[in-house]
Amino acid sequence: MPTWKLFPIPMQGQSTVEVESLPSYLLRSAYAHGASGGVLLQVIHELGGCSQKTRPRCIAGKHGIATLARVNQFTRELRDRLAEFTGHDMSCEPLRFLDSQVYCISTEIGTFRWCPECLAEMARIDAPLYFKQLWHMTAVGHCPVHRVRLSECCEFCGSKQHSLKAKHPVGYCAECGEPLFNRRTPLSTKDIQPSWECPSHDVLEIFEKAARPGMTVSGWLEARSFIHSMAVSADHGRRNSHITGELRELLYECRRNWRDNCRLISLRRLAYLMNMSLYDLLTCSSTAYPLPYSAPELKSLPEHLRRRKKTVRNHKYVYQKLVLYLEGQQIPPSLKQAARFAQVSPGYLEYRFPSLVRRIVECYQAYRSQTALVNRYRAQAAALKFFTKERYADHIQSRKEAYRVLKEETGLPKWVLKNAIQTAYRVLQVGAG
Ligand SMILES: [Zn+2]
Ligand SMILES: [Zn+2]
Repeated sequence: MPTWKLFPIPMQGQSTVEVESLPSYLLRSAYAHGASGGVLLQVIHELGGCSQKTRPRCIAGKHGIATLARVNQFTRELRDRLAEFTGHDMSCEPLRFLDSQVYCISTEIGTFRWCPECLAEMARIDAPLYFKQLWHMTAVGHCPVHRVRLSECCEFCGSKQHSLKAKHPVGYCAECGEPLFNRRTPLSTKDIQPSWECPSHDVLEIFEKAARPGMTVSGWLEARSFIHSMAVSADHGRRNSHITGELRELLYECRRNWRDNCRLISLRRLAYLMNMSLYDLLTCSSTAYPLPYSAPELKSLPEHLRRRKKTVRNHKYVYQKLVLYLEGQQIPPSLKQAARFAQVSPGYLEYRFPSLVRRIVECYQAYRSQTALVNRYRAQAAALKFFTKERYADHIQSRKEAYRVLKEETGLPKWVLKNAIQTAYRVLQVGAG
């Protein structure tokens, strides 16, 4: 019997559309070994695994998880070593296929997201909980099975699942340990995407078809000549004289950039306008679309594939405007307020002016904690006065009455006032007793 260097844990959903992602596997394995993901990676390295050279600078955090879910030299080596050390197949065919056909597919892959209902189903049948690779694809916003929006953070503590510490099993929040399949607010019908609306069906199809072993014929050479012949027939206006506008532009763009520079979004647009499935375009399934092919006349792209208008911003102007605004404020504004004033998003500010954002956040927090302190002090003084001063002798000396009167007089926040009244009441009762 062979002895494996790591626990021989199989990758979940292997050879299906539900194939597990690499960071998910790493976390499950780390948890089973009683170590963190970082330690497990170190061990794999020491066992003669991945070279430190290809190892990304940072493996934790949002970017770390995304890097592990992508296709790069490091993850290729890691998959090979894991297969060698566990005896299980660690490949991900849909990813390998997309990587071979699409330029820079990694830009389409993000960090952990999940469908709580899928996780709940895994839990119900006592299967190991895991994150699917499909959920990492930015094009996929909803679970194809349950049609609910994929979750990004824990509903209980709000933390995004970016930790490799493996404190809790996969499927449970990395911070608070609550199950990621529990919903705080139950689903309503408006949370379910209608079955006719599935903007990511083309990417899903690739996962479905390419996951099956032996299905991924690399047809990019044929696909290139197909695109070429389409462009030529559009040029000479014989068969496809109606190809104009967007489709014509796309054809030229894809012909020019084929393989070296053709991004997923361009290919998705092209497939849509040619009325082909994206999978067929990439594999150039000549039986489905015999050449020469007449493209239908589809005029416009659906919403999710349309080109977004780029907003051009004068960063320097935004900065100066913001600095002037901050100087003029008596009360330090929150980041949200500052962003609203400058008509940009908080994310833009964080990306563009990190040090300014730090200053805004620090000032705002300092102001907040100072106000809280002052409020507590004012509430305490008011509550003591209520129970001791002559002025309030006409009122019933109860906590309820104290709250009613003091709320009106001071306008302090509810719980600050209630806590102060409770403290004063207890202190005076003890004193009286
Ligand atoms: Zn689901
Ligand atoms: Zn949590």
